[in-house]
Amino acid sequence: MRLRPRSIRVRDTLIAAVISLLAFSALGVTLDVIIRDVGTAQMLRENQLAARRISGAVRDGTMRHPIPDDPAGLVLQVVGPDRRVRASTAIDAWRPPVSARRPAVGERVVDYVECDVPEYRGCMLVEAIRATTAPDSVVVYAAQPMPVVFTAGLLEWILTAVVLVLSTLTSWTTWKVVGRTLRPVEAIRAQLSEISASDLSRRVPQPAGEDEIAQLARTANETLDRLERSVARQRQFSSDASHELRTPIAALRANLEDASMHPDDTDLEAVVRAALRDTDRLESIVTDLLLLARIGTGGAVAQEVIDFAELVRLEVRRRASGVVIRIAVDARPAVRGVRMQLVRLLHNLLDNAERYAESCVEVAVSETDGQVVLTVTDDGSGIPEQDRERVFERFTRLDTARSRSAGGTGLGLAIARDIATAHGGSLRIEESLLGARFALRLPPADHS
Ligand code: ADP
Repeated sequence: MRLRPRSIRVRDTLIAAVISLLAFSALGVTLDVIIRDVGTAQMLRENQLAARRISGAVRDGTMRHPIPDDPAGLVLQVVGPDRRVRASTAIDAWRPPVSARRPAVGERVVDYVECDVPEYRGCMLVEAIRATTAPDSVVVYAAQPMPVVFTAGLLEWILTAVVLVLSTLTSWTTWKVVGRTLRPVEAIRAQLSEISASDLSRRVPQPAGEDEIAQLARTANETLDRLERSVARQRQFSSDASHELRTPIAALRANLEDASMHPDDTDLEAVVRAALRDTDRLESIVTDLLLLARIGTGGAVAQEVIDFAELVRLEVRRRASGVVIRIAVDARPAVRGVRMQLVRLLHNLLDNAERYAESCVEVAVSETDGQVVLTVTDDGSGIPEQDRERVFERFTRLDTARSRSAGGTGLGLAIARDIATAHGGSLRIEESLLGARFALRLPPADHS
């Protein structure tokens, strides 16, 4: 059985009800004891004084009947061992003994509440004193009625009622306060449940202030902002990718249609060569897109410790363009990463450098500020300051004709940066005297 109520409001109210009931009950019991003690202490003192005065008079032989009326209205009686009233206050002259109980011989004085004598209405607080130590001594009674509130459990009933009212009030207040506190949460929930992937422009209501609920709403809205931007980026990317794929497909189709319509005028070898070129291009775009989708997703790619300078040397040595590549290695740092991806990163940077260089490219590996740094600098026309972030976006080409003709997909730098980020590093374009300088920073193997 499930005992936890599903509603926070019900749960909190139940907790408040139980705690307040326990706390107020404890307070009620304490109050009951205190009120009774304080209330009867004064009466006991009055009884004691009067009883002692009269028992002294009995012993001195100065006892007279009737006993002068007590200013506090006490019932005062001197009762013999035969249970006859020998002396009493005038107004009680005709009444029987206020109590049937006689203190035992060794006891002398007793205080108690007597409720069993019908001639005295209600209960009486009694002090009984044996006047002398003789077994047949008279007993002096000093008694006064107990206040009604102390009898028949009235005080306890009143305190119980107060405890119940206070607990109910506490529970009701809790119910109201929790309800009001949770109202904005419900509004946020309702709005969130209506927001779908197709309509990410809506935001949850933002309550005023800085409390936890306001922070929850702000965080939810920030998450929605990020989600909206990310969905917009994905849409843009899909549309860019489709556009990029459409160009070679259109060229391929036009070529093939032309060949099928005019088979006699067609140079079949040229058509096949062109079709292969377009297919190559399609293949490289699709390969790049797949790579982009995979980078940084973790998966089953194996990380290894790699001699980074050696990796750069190998990549540079593989190049066979007419451009001179100079390499300077200041350190032999190791990095931890996916070899294939790092090779791809170097490949993209060196490809671009060779493509845009006039005559030479400089590659340098060093360890600076606890980071492994690779710079690739060419002596080409460089990249204008305002485009230095844009070139890392997917399908950005500053020099469309040159890039396309060289087989560029416009994804090279986006892939390179994603690989750098997935390895805990960064890739940026830095200021250089001549051409463009790309700086890659990676954490060394022991720090990553
Ligand atoms: P692409 O496949 O077109 O080379 P990249 O993402 O590698 O795509 O590069 C994006 C754009 O950045 C290129 O089209 C080019 O305009 C510019 N670019 C990249 N590297 C260099 C460089 N070394 N010098 C000048 N421009 C460059």
